[in-house]
Amino acid sequence: MMKRLSSALLLATCISAAPALAHPSEDDPATAHFLANEAILVTAGETRILFDPLFSVSYGYPLVAPDVRAAIMAGTPPFDGVDVVFVSHVHGDHFDAPAVNAYLAAHPDVILVGPWQARLDMQAAEGWDTAFEARIHALPFNASPQHLVLEVDGVADAIRVETVHIPHAGGPGRAGIQNMAHRVTLNGEATVMHLGDATPEPAIYDTHSDHFAARTSQHAFPPYWVLGEWGGETTRARLNAEAVTGIHIPINQPDWLEESGEDYFTEAGETRPIPDHSHD
Ligand SMILES: [Zn+2]
Ligand SMILES: [Zn+2]
Repeated sequence: MMKRLSSALLLATCISAAPALAHPSEDDPATAHFLANEAILVTAGETRILFDPLFSVSYGYPLVAPDVRAAIMAGTPPFDGVDVVFVSHVHGDHFDAPAVNAYLAAHPDVILVGPWQARLDMQAAEGWDTAFEARIHALPFNASPQHLVLEVDGVADAIRVETVHIPHAGGPGRAGIQNMAHRVTLNGEATVMHLGDATPEPAIYDTHSDHFAARTSQHAFPPYWVLGEWGGETTRARLNAEAVTGIHIPINQPDWLEESGEDYFTEAGETRPIPDHSHD
């Protein structure tokens, strides 16, 4: 019977085992928790953010398990006290507008950061409430990096966001999709980067080399095709990241994934510590 512990409960157990601290510490480092596809929970003490957590279409990629989805919606541990939800882009394997509307309605303190296209879809979807506007940072569809400083839990600069549009993989046919690469610093201590379905074409990263150089990410989560095409060393260098873990792994995993020796999130419930190297 104990074997049937739900994955949400396992996640909750892992987090509540450590004392609740306002800031990450050596005993309670910032941590990335993998949910499915490109859905990740990042915790840094009391500061908690979600990337691409609510989506409903598979397209051949794993969905978030129903019990985990229910825990997100209900705000039960470890999804209690979520501060910000980040959306990379509006494809159905990343974003479900009615579900996000329902989530914002149920969690009146949560801030949403995403592409301008996400708000458009939400406004047209079931459950939209104009009161959400005050909590949504809808990023315009332009080429320049965009910066936000968000107050959460009473801390004025608890979350710093540096986002840049990186075109969606797949070439000109996807050019109309506003895919955002979010670099997020939690409590000034842990910086993570989520790239959505970013293209592996190097030119755009060269264009934004100043943006990537401006801050080192302790951990970046590129789609697996970027890591597969570039390899770990080039990926870390190009993104200015100390560690990288590939995401968006298909249900039918390609053989080269394991053979590559690079790090990928393949199983829901996997975690990675995000150490603060600045004190090393
Ligand atoms: Zn996509
Ligand atoms: Zn996708």
